[in-house]
Amino acid sequence: MTNDIKKIYGIEDPNLIISSVSEGTYRNKPAKIIQASYKPKAIVCPKCGSSPRNNTGKYIIVKNGSKKVDVLLTHENTGIVSKKLSKQRYRCYNCNTHWTSQIDLVQPSHNISRIIEAKIIELIAERISLKLIAKLCSVSISKVIQVLKALETYVIEFIFRKD
Ligand SMILES: [Zn+2]
Repeated sequence: MTNDIKKIYGIEDPNLIISSVSEGTYRNKPAKIIQASYKPKAIVCPKCGSSPRNNTGKYIIVKNGSKKVDVLLTHENTGIVSKKLSKQRYRCYNCNTHWTSQIDLVQPSHNISRIIEAKIIELIAERISLKLIAKLCSVSISKVIQVLKALETYVIEFIFRKD
């Protein structure tokens, strides 16, 4: 059931474990609310590159609680919202770094997926009003403006880059 949901909505990340799906609302529109956790199988320390265990089998990287965030994953007909997506946190004993696992589908510290950001850019290109884009994608107008600004920065850097 949950794997079917992942397939239908193009969120087939093997590390995203969906535990339940229910009907609910998001920004006053019907939405599927999923409870999920994100626990990457292959991990290395982002700072020192340590593996989870050293040569003697001792654990170098240990689980260190989790961080819970709300993420709008997709928006095709019905929004799929992961309420309190539980992202695994880790600690490296080698260099004492702490970090939160990042789901590929969502840019770090963003609360909408790359799928929706791409959709917003597509609609901006169609010259649809920002208000309507916000409505179509179930996001706030300020979120649409944020995506637009990031796009502007990218385009300006692209035009003026020196190869
Ligand atoms: Zn480390």
